[in-house]
Amino acid sequence: MLHSFGLRFKPWTDRAQVIREEISRRKSVDFQDHSLLNARLNDDKSEGPFVDYLRALYTSQPPDLIVAIGAPAANFVQRHRSDLFPNAPMVFTAVQQLRVDPDKLTDNDTVVAAADDYAPLFENILRVQPSTKLIAIVSGASPNEKFWQGVLRRVLEPFAGRVEIKWYNELSFEGILKDASNLPPHSAIFWQLMNVDAAGVVHEGGTALLRLSATANAPIFAYDDAFFGEAILGGPMASVVEGSKAAAAVALRILDGEKPGDIKTPPTPLASPKFDWRQVQRWGISESDLPPGSTVLFKPPTMWETYRWQILTACTVISLQALLIVLLLLERQRRYLAEVQSRQRMVELAHMNRQATAGQLSASIAHELNQPLGAILNNAEAATLIIDSPSPNLQEVKSIIEDIKRDDQRASEVIKRLRRLLTRGAFDSQEVDLNEVVGEVFRILSAQAAARDVRLDKKLTPHRLPVTGDRIQLQQVILNLVVNGIDAIADMPNGVREIACTSWASDGLAHVSIRDTGPGIPPDRLEQLFEPFFTTKPEGMGMGLCIAHTIIESHGGKISAETRSSGAVFYVSLPLAKTTRSSMQ
Ligand code: ADP
Repeated sequence: MLHSFGLRFKPWTDRAQVIREEISRRKSVDFQDHSLLNARLNDDKSEGPFVDYLRALYTSQPPDLIVAIGAPAANFVQRHRSDLFPNAPMVFTAVQQLRVDPDKLTDNDTVVAAADDYAPLFENILRVQPSTKLIAIVSGASPNEKFWQGVLRRVLEPFAGRVEIKWYNELSFEGILKDASNLPPHSAIFWQLMNVDAAGVVHEGGTALLRLSATANAPIFAYDDAFFGEAILGGPMASVVEGSKAAAAVALRILDGEKPGDIKTPPTPLASPKFDWRQVQRWGISESDLPPGSTVLFKPPTMWETYRWQILTACTVISLQALLIVLLLLERQRRYLAEVQSRQRMVELAHMNRQATAGQLSASIAHELNQPLGAILNNAEAATLIIDSPSPNLQEVKSIIEDIKRDDQRASEVIKRLRRLLTRGAFDSQEVDLNEVVGEVFRILSAQAAARDVRLDKKLTPHRLPVTGDRIQLQQVILNLVVNGIDAIADMPNGVREIACTSWASDGLAHVSIRDTGPGIPPDRLEQLFEPFFTTKPEGMGMGLCIAHTIIESHGGKISAETRSSGAVFYVSLPLAKTTRSSMQ
């Protein structure tokens, strides 16, 4: 491999490296590198001895293939082709077609040229930085670099009206650095080459470009992508990889036996534009000004690209948590509403219960008081008549007064019971004879029943039927059942008008049935009967049976209803009081 300047000069170093790697992948080859030094200095005197030196090296075994890298190497070889192993095949590469003299090409030579299209590079500068007014061209003073200045001057002629061109080839590199740090606004720098500067200082590697990038106050563009990667903004460029792969492919064909003169390779075109994201940011270039189809490289990965799975996992966990929290909040809200509703219902129910009980009580009290008060009135009138008579029978008056006293006591007893019922803790648990309760109710209602033409009949056990409970409450239950019976019969046009009350004991229970000869209860109403507010009466409250049901249940008993062909039957059963149960069974 014949190098133009040395082993570490961009862009040729990069190209030689790729060619070497590509060939090595297919073939085991002994690469030997030689560099021209005269290319730096334009010194012809050393050429002859260098040719002799190479010939001497390869006298016994000429090379199988010579690869000339870059234009200086190509020119050198063409000048000395007849002395430099004329039978050895030769590939000219990393060179523009116009740097190779076609007349001097032999059958053993072939060219793999790089693109020689410069105008798109300057069009690119004006596109990505439309405000550009000045382009400074960085180039050294070696013969090769001077040649290219000539080429560039021609290329740039059409741009003359659009942009001012500043040439740096007369300056030392230090001078270039100074000037580039002080360019007017809207400037750009085009990095052509910097091998040997005007002061004769040689610049190998990529250091010079990095120094320029550090001090320049304008973006830097280049022809060859060997310079791309740190300091160059970007655009369409000659591709190291594509050009070198093409050269390596040709080299391999020759090593496989093809004749170089038969291989014609078109120049490798400029690669599609690529940009350095860091430089784009540094110079405030808008990404929308980049040519379509551009690749932007060195963009740091976004958070999403770096932590994709972590972000997805975190989002899933957070979403699940949020969902759970929402569900819990909804549940809490629901429970809260349910609690409020239930409290409200309880308050309503308590209120209604009180109202219903009061209504029910007032009805029964009216019944209870009416009877003794009526009797008192009758007796008082009778006593008045006796006293007004010419010979009043005082004995009779005394007995009437006795009756009045008894009735008065009954009335006050009713009032006492009422007071007991209305005070809290009214549930007065004591042994009560159910037969007695029935008797009392019949006594209380006898007048009312008679007034409505209803006969009250009772078939009670001959012995006591003792249960434990509140006398007044149990009385209220029986009273309510009998009053309902009277109400039911009252409207019957004809037939037997009777309420029969039966009592018996069995299975440790005291039973009472109240049967009437009314219209009975339609089967579909039987179920609702004990529900609050179920009534068919225009002025009914529908609480009587409901309260009766509550009272009987709180006494550990049961209440039920049946309908027969002759009317309705209500059954009440209560546990017999313990003390007497054993003696009765
Ligand atoms: P209300 O005093 O408003 O009538 P109750 O709870 O005492 O309330 O009775 C509810 C309903 O049951 C009555 O309206 C009536 O339709 C029915 N019912 C109760 N007892 C009888 C019965 N002996 N015969 C026919 N229907 C009855």
